[in-house]
This record gives sequence, C-alpha cells and structure tokens, in this order.
Amino acid sequence: MTEIIDGSAVAADVRAEVAERVETLESAGVTPGLATVLMSDDPASETYVSMKQRDCEEVGIEGIHVEIDADAPAEELYETIDDLNERDDVHGILVQLPVPDHVDKRSVLRQIDPEKDVDGFHPENVGRLVAGDARFKPCTPHGVQKLLEAYDVETEGADAVVIGRSDIVGKPMANLLIQKGPVGNATTTVCHSRTEDLDGKLADADLVVAAAGIPEFIDGSMLKPGATVIDVGINRVDADTEKGYALVGDVDYDSASETAGAITPVPGGVGPMTRAMLLYNTVKAAGIRHDVEVDL
Ligand code: NDP
Repeated sequence: MTEIIDGSAVAADVRAEVAERVETLESAGVTPGLATVLMSDDPASETYVSMKQRDCEEVGIEGIHVEIDADAPAEELYETIDDLNERDDVHGILVQLPVPDHVDKRSVLRQIDPEKDVDGFHPENVGRLVAGDARFKPCTPHGVQKLLEAYDVETEGADAVVIGRSDIVGKPMANLLIQKGPVGNATTTVCHSRTEDLDGKLADADLVVAAAGIPEFIDGSMLKPGATVIDVGINRVDADTEKGYALVGDVDYDSASETAGAITPVPGGVGPMTRAMLLYNTVKAAGIRHDVEVDL
C-alpha cells in the first residue's frame, strides 16, 4: 500500500507547535511580528502574501504588510527594508519574490537583517546552512524535512535524487539531505536541465524530491518500486474546472502512486508545509532577538 504523505495534517501540527511558542513569547512580553513586502502587480504574488498574513493571524503572529508600487524606484524598497530592520516589533521580513526587473534581487536579499531573514535567503544564512549550522532553513526544503521526519522516512544511507537546483528549493534541499544528523546522511544527486540520463538516476533513487516546475513529467515507470516521492512542483494546467485550470505537481500522481512507497499529493503536500515553516522561522527569530527559549 502506498502511503499518502499528508502535508496539510503535518502543517497543522507545526502551526499548533508554533502557536504554543507564541504563547511562550507572549508570557515574556514579546509579540512576534512578520513583515511582508509586496512590490508587484502579479495576482499570484498578491494571493501568496495575503495567505501568509492570514496564517500569521491564525497562530497569533502580528502581520505587518507593506505594498510598494511596482514602478517605484528600487531605493524605495531598500528604504522600506531598512525601516523594517530597525523596528523592534518586526522579527521576520519577507520580500515576496519575484521583484520587478529593475530591482536587483540579490541586493534586496542582502539588505535584510540576517537575523530577520525568515526565508533564509541572505548569503549569511545560506552559508550557515551549508556549514551545517543553519539559523533559518529555507521554508520549502525545511518543510520537506519535517514531512520526512513525520513519516519516519529513513534518509540515512538512502540514495536521494533532487530534481532542480534553484536557490530556494533544489540547492538547499540537497544541502539538508547531505548534512550529518537526523533527516540527513543521504547520498544525494542533484539533477537539472543539463542532466544526462535522469531516468537512470531515478531508477536507483530511494527518495525523489521533484522541483523542476514541469507538469507531471515523472511517471511511475521511472521510479524505483517503494521509493518515497516528494513532489514540490506546483503547476497550473488547463482543465475543465470552474477556474479553467487545475494545479498539478511535477509527478504524475496516479501512475507514481502505483510504484512509490510513499508520495505527497499536489495540492496538500509540500505547499502547506512551506507556509507553516515561515511561521516557525518567525517565532524562532523572535526568540533569538529577545533571548527567549522557544526550543525550535
Ligand atoms: P526554478 O524554475 O527556479 O528551477 C527549476 C529547476 O528545474 C532548475 O534547476 C532547472 O534546471 C530544473 N529543470 C528544468 N527542466 C528540467 C528537466 N527536464 N530535468 C531536470 N531538471 C530540470 O523553480 P523553483 O525551484 O522555484 O520551483 C520548482 C517548482 O516548485 C515550481 O513548480 C514551483 O512552482 C514549485 N514550488 C513549490 C513550492 C511549494 O511550496 N510547494 C515552493 C517553491 C516552488 P536549470 O537550473 O538547468 O535551469
């Protein structure tokens, strides 16, 4: 029987844990605060930010939202970040990506105080992650790690294949899987668009983390029987639904669930975990800032 890895359920557990830590902080006189900054007219980005704000409310984190005109000069965004860096009530800062073309993404990420960088994208935090001393793990790979932990997936000694090498998913995911310690110790291969013989690599993989952004391109026949499949992909495809589209992963769920030992659905797999881990990092940031032991 293939096990369905229920990200919505695990994310609910993480949110409950976060809500408890919020109470610990409150009893020490600290209300954790997360600032979201949106510099975009993209409706998808607007939706993501409003979901993040709603999530904050649910667990008792104070949401602060700043919108900047997408045509405004880059300096306006840098000044906004500077102000948020200075504010005592702001413990986490998230600039919704992508930023407009005239704004240099790397400079934006470097501008955020590393102690408030709850996305974990600042070079200092990337370096700490690689060094095995993570302060904030990026939310999506951290969420995957939590799912593997929740379902007792053995990573030690496993052959893992990560498909995708982006800064936000593939690279940090691979880094976490090779770390010494729990939910690590895997022998990890990172695949990308120039990889030759992806099929051969998948055929030997005990664990597959798919993050290429290509709808349903991995099917069951490509997987090792019994493999654990974590589908990070979220792809919009035309469908006969009310909205005119459906969301699918990078993995063809129906055929993959015939071969896999365990698999995440899309939606309801990694997506809710990504959102939950942002709250986790925010509470952790507040604990660090005010020297309150939140044990995260
Ligand atoms: P990017 O587009 O930044 O990266 C995609 C990666 O896939 C690249 O490294 C690319 O290789 C690689 N790739 C492309 N084609 C192939 C191929 N044929 N075989 C192997 N590798 C290939 O995407 P992201 O990492 O930002 O996101 C990946 C997916 O995950 C998207 O669907 C996105 O929507 C989703 N996502 C989901 C999240 C969640 O919470 N569930 C969070 C973040 C993203 P190359 O580097 O050579 O171009």
